[in-house]
Amino acid sequence: MQRIGLDAAAQRVLDCAPWPLFLCAAEAVGAAVPQPQFMSLKPLFSSPSSSAAPLRELLVADIGGSHIRIARHLGGSRCELLQQTATPAKDWSAFCEAMHAAVAPHAGPRSGLSIAIAGVVSPASGEVQASNLPALRGHALAQELSARLGLPVQAHNDADCAALAEARLGVGAGHEVVFGAVLGTGVGGGLVVRGQLVRGAGGLCGEWGHGPILRETTLLNGQGQPVTLARWACGCGQSGCLDTVGGARGLERLHLALNGGAPRNSLQLLIDWQGGEPAACATVAAWIDLISGPLALVVNLTGASVVPVCGGLSRCAALITALDAAVRQQILRRSDEDSLTADQALLRPSVLNDQAGLIGAALAFEPEAMQAKEAQP
Ligand SMILES: [Zn+2]
Repeated sequence: MQRIGLDAAAQRVLDCAPWPLFLCAAEAVGAAVPQPQFMSLKPLFSSPSSSAAPLRELLVADIGGSHIRIARHLGGSRCELLQQTATPAKDWSAFCEAMHAAVAPHAGPRSGLSIAIAGVVSPASGEVQASNLPALRGHALAQELSARLGLPVQAHNDADCAALAEARLGVGAGHEVVFGAVLGTGVGGGLVVRGQLVRGAGGLCGEWGHGPILRETTLLNGQGQPVTLARWACGCGQSGCLDTVGGARGLERLHLALNGGAPRNSLQLLIDWQGGEPAACATVAAWIDLISGPLALVVNLTGASVVPVCGGLSRCAALITALDAAVRQQILRRSDEDSLTADQALLRPSVLNDQAGLIGAALAFEPEAMQAKEAQP
């Protein structure tokens, strides 16, 4: 375990340690972190109006299909990584055991736990739907873990958490409407208005990756005869969803469909694209062609003035720059009178990176809701 301050973080960059960097990039290099102008932060650890004992520390967890990360929130965009362990994705009992083993050694009598999870959390029942985490299906994650761990627990969609973190403390700071897009293994997103997360009916707001909207044709390198695409089945039960081509796995699927040959992983594809390799260039051109239109529609619909992009694909700055140019060609807002000028990037890579989910989980935690629940007979 290691607590990371600014100096330690800078040292960690120099050391190139394999352990994940635990501060946003701007903090790590000592740069000023933009402060949000629209947020009205609730107190995280106390509620003067409540008779319940205030929480004194907040643990945060990021639960994905492969790994669980547990951290202590130190305030703002600072966290202390405590534990990382493999996710028992198919066994509920094993999952609970893993969470207990990871959390219990670090939890005190005044601790709370806020979770960012790769799944949809029903605001009504608390039940989780997560295609990569079949063990959790149908379980009221927060309630059941709370009983098991003896702590107040809340659970939130990880894309919502990432969007909230970027809107308040990252590249969206100062913007009134922020749509956070996740281009990771698949596609996700979250909407934040004036610093507040919009969860929407069923907790589904921001899920721009699902719905049968994928065009059935695209052009190789923007020219020649249209190429017909399959209507790939999606994990949500529909076919033709953006999620089937939009993330890293989708990029790889698209490459195989357009070019055949041996499978190529997304990282290699993006390296080859930047090197000018023709097949990779055709794939990325088609990917941008298919993704940019729906994302432009999202921008029109939400009125977002910035779109922080999180997830693995966001680490390829050239890809986000190319996607940004295509999206800005298709949005309605082009007037010089708008705040968004022709040369101002709308899509911007995350600055919180891997920590956006953990930081967002901390920001999404609502101690008042927890204490109100405890006060009920
Ligand atoms: Zn879908």
